[in-house]
Amino acid sequence: MVQTQRLVRGDGRVQPTTDHPITAPRSALNTRPHDLIVVAQLMHQTRTLRDVPGTGDVEGNYTVSKIRVLRPLVEMDGDEMTRVIWARIKDQLILPYLDIELEYYDLSVSHRDETDDKVTVDAANATLKHGVAVKCATITPNDDRVREFGLKKQWPSPNGTIRAIMDGTVFRKPITLRNIPAAVKSWKKPITIARHAFGDIYRDQEMVIDRPGTVELTFRPADGSAAVSQVVNEFKGSSPTGISMAMFNTDTSIRSFAKSCFTYAIAERCSIWFNAKDTISKKYHARFRDIFAEEAASRAAEITAAGITYSYYLIDDAVAQVMKHEGGHLWACMNYDGDVLSDMVAAGFGSLGLMTSVLVNPDGKYEYEAAHGTVTRHFRRHQRGEETSTNSVASIFAWSGAIGQRGQLDASADVVAFARAIERAVIETIEGGTMTKDLLALTTTEHPRGVDTWAFMDAVASHLKASL
Ligand code: NAP
Ligand code: MG
Repeated sequence: MVQTQRLVRGDGRVQPTTDHPITAPRSALNTRPHDLIVVAQLMHQTRTLRDVPGTGDVEGNYTVSKIRVLRPLVEMDGDEMTRVIWARIKDQLILPYLDIELEYYDLSVSHRDETDDKVTVDAANATLKHGVAVKCATITPNDDRVREFGLKKQWPSPNGTIRAIMDGTVFRKPITLRNIPAAVKSWKKPITIARHAFGDIYRDQEMVIDRPGTVELTFRPADGSAAVSQVVNEFKGSSPTGISMAMFNTDTSIRSFAKSCFTYAIAERCSIWFNAKDTISKKYHARFRDIFAEEAASRAAEITAAGITYSYYLIDDAVAQVMKHEGGHLWACMNYDGDVLSDMVAAGFGSLGLMTSVLVNPDGKYEYEAAHGTVTRHFRRHQRGEETSTNSVASIFAWSGAIGQRGQLDASADVVAFARAIERAVIETIEGGTMTKDLLALTTTEHPRGVDTWAFMDAVASHLKASL
């Protein structure tokens, strides 16, 4: 008798189960009709599925007892190359070993369209309910995508929707490997970037000034008391044209960002930096500095217990310091700084395929994902039946991060240990010289083995199997 995975239909979509002997990974059955090549590719993978422990017999029946995960994990499926890789991760690295209840939401762009994006909202609410989610990369539709998939409209970015519902902060953390050195010589440990993804120039009002006149900033109180106005600039004389901008933030959003940062840093036991330009912006930037200082003070006991520190720097000082620093800290940034510096840190650590991302809300709810997109260029090659060498590491670490966090919240040491075993299997594979081709130019290994998408995952699976 086949042991059935406890799969739950979070979004009412037909979710394949293993009530029948596995002839293709269950995810293949959940593939969109036009992805026939994808299905064929997945069918081909059953060979490796039978190779892992617990799937020993020809029927693909599970025979070995699995580690039980006590509470559900929210799973959000996605699009294109990452969707294909996603199915393979579950079938090779997760489901053979874990007895886990996956509350499944299909966030593929066509299913978001079918449900008028309700599925995204449901998935975010499920994350608030269960506390931990893992998300595959998804398409944020533009005009071309609306035509490609015949969508009703340009649905918003799922990540934006989920972030708004969870009120969370995104932490981006690189995976560091001994044979993939960082571009900055001193960087030995991962630098995690937290970006305050609300307000500032991303919600500003801008004006082009095309004739002489005065720009003012006015606050009109709702209680009817007198309005307050400040002159921003008088455009006059020989230079009467130019530009102007007004922006805002809210104490609630800044505080929630600060709380998420301290929650993350305390849980991960990493010191925390926050930076702004309060010497110049004595009210706006200074407010960020003060709220961070208040949060640091209110959590002083936890910060000490975790053996970490909180430091405030001027942004220019922080940028100079980080080039001489060994890393290992959480770098909390205002919106624009985080936008720019997260890309600098990602590039400094190597490949997008090695960058993970986790959304943490102030109450300690977590959503894990890879920082990269759906890798469309590789998916086109995959659809044509050509070889691909897509790096699955960040997607695998999204799963291991979520499983580890689930285990921690449930106080299940064996689940946490399994999550770390997956990560070790990935690291051993790459440090042993087997890697996808994006890493070949970065590695210090003398004769690395550059492999395709599937051979890399097979190698990780066999390292994992050997370690358990
Ligand atoms: P992308 O999917 O991140 O890929 C951009 C390029 O980066 C790839 O073509 C590839 O370069 C390299 N790359 C990224 N991830 C890689 C990996 N795992 N292994 C190897 N190479 C990797 O960004 P995009 O092409 O701009 O966006 C594609 C779709 O993803 C879009 O529809 C966008 O809306 C969506 N997106 C989603 C998320 C998310 O869900 N979090 C984030 C960003 C973008 P080469 O082709 O040179 O090998
Ligand atoms: Mg950016």
